[in-house]
Order: sequence, then C-alpha cells, then structure tokens
Amino acid sequence: LIRIEGVTKRFGDNTVLDGLDLTVRTGRHVTLIGPSGSGKTTILRLLMTLTEPDSGTITVDGQRLFPASEKELREVRKQIGMVFQQFNLFPNMSVLRNITEAPVTVLGLPKDEAEARGRELLDLVGLADKADERPTRLSGGQQQRVAVARALAMRPKVLLLDEVTSALDPELVAGVLDLLRDIARTTDITMVCVTHEMNFARDISDQVLMFDSGRVIEAGPPERIFGEPEHERTREFLGAVL
Ligand code: ATP
Repeated sequence: LIRIEGVTKRFGDNTVLDGLDLTVRTGRHVTLIGPSGSGKTTILRLLMTLTEPDSGTITVDGQRLFPASEKELREVRKQIGMVFQQFNLFPNMSVLRNITEAPVTVLGLPKDEAEARGRELLDLVGLADKADERPTRLSGGQQQRVAVARALAMRPKVLLLDEVTSALDPELVAGVLDLLRDIARTTDITMVCVTHEMNFARDISDQVLMFDSGRVIEAGPPERIFGEPEHERTREFLGAVL
C-alpha cells in the first residue's frame, strides 16, 4: 500500500505538488495523466526517494519514507522498481549483467541464480538472444525492454513507469506497451504509471488520476475518466491528446 498524505513540494517559488493525497492499494495499477509540468514525474521521484517533500508524509507498506534512516530507505528502495523515459542502462556492461548487477550487489543473490533469473526475464521480454550484447547495440525499444527486465529482476512490489515510451520511435512503442500490459495482467505487482499513451492507460489502469497544478482534480476508473470526464480541465486535456 502506497499512501501519500498532504504532500507539498516546491522548487523555489514553484509549488509543484500542493497538499497532495493519494492512496494506491496493493496490486492496483494507477495511471497519472495531465498537462506537462503538473507534477506527475515529481510524484514518482518522491516514491523512489530521489527527492524529498517539503511537507506531508509518504508511506510504502507502512514504512515512512521521510524522514527515514539510510538503512530504512535501502529496504524501501529494494521493493520499488522504476523504469525511466531514458533507459539509463549501464553502457559498459552486457545486457545480462545490467539485469544481474543489482540482485547480486544489493540483494546478495548468488551470481548463477541471478543469471538464471536474468535469462528467464530476457526470455519474458523477448530478448533471450541478446544476453551478451552491449545495450548500445540494441534499438531503443529493445533497450527499454531490458530496463523493464532489470527492474523486475529485483522482484519489486511496486513498479514505477515514467513515460517509458516517449523517447522511442513510433514503431517501437507497441512492443514495449504490450510487454507492460502482459506484466500488469500476469503479476500482482503494484504499478504507478505516468503516460501520454491514453490507450495504454485505458487498458492497464484500475484507476486514472487527472492532475492539474499539483493536485488530483479527478480520479476514477478509466471508462469513466475517458468516457465521461466531469471536470472541464480533464475534458480540455483529453480533447487535446486523444
Ligand atoms: P511532464 O509530463 O512534462 O514530464 P510532469 O507532470 O511530470 O510533466 P514534473 O516533471 O513533475 O511534471 O515537473 C513539475 C514542475 O516541477 C515543472 O514545472 C518543472 O519545471 C519543475 N521541476 C521538476 N524538477 C525540478 C528540479 N529538479 N528543479 C526545479 N524545478 C523542477
């Protein structure tokens, strides 16, 4: 369970999140939509403990993120995987090593076990034959699928997806989204996605949250948000992107 209560985040004079409340139940898939700059990425960065709120509380499975000791943060981070817009793979390591590095160094998994699991994950993302390649030799879509495998290798309870297809050439988007749809359907992982792909949001979400100016202005199941948006800002936004 992810619980965000009264979270405010400012950058200088810019109040990016303004007393935000948001709860994501275990196993649910929540998608954040809204105009650029409305604070969606900032929420994922807070959950990943990459940045701190100015006020308010965030808990993941009862563990408070701020303030928390380094030891507590390490434990929380183990449970959260994130896939970024830019794939952020380690360029000097093979594809397989990209996937096994964290399980070995952070979880202390024996190398052969991590490799066996890494190969299973590469199989899952359709890249079994690329284990020994350098990531730079793969297409953007393939690199992003490696990034998904790398996140899953930590067996996270929560997967955060930040506009994972926006840096991809259009013809590579579908493969990555199909993979994520499969993961959403076949695992009990909790997912929080930021996306501009409204069809994807419609397919995988239990709940869609519409953001504007640092607040959730409308939330509901995708059929309702996309079918019968109540808020004028939601209608405008969907009108512009759909
Ligand atoms: P997009 O869809 O464009 O990614 P977003 O809704 O994810 O937008 P955020 O990335 O959360 O929006 O950014 C919200 C606001 O916070 C923006 O105005 C941005 O300029 C500002 N911001 C984000 N990170 C920083 C930072 N490190 N320093 C200063 N301002 C920042």
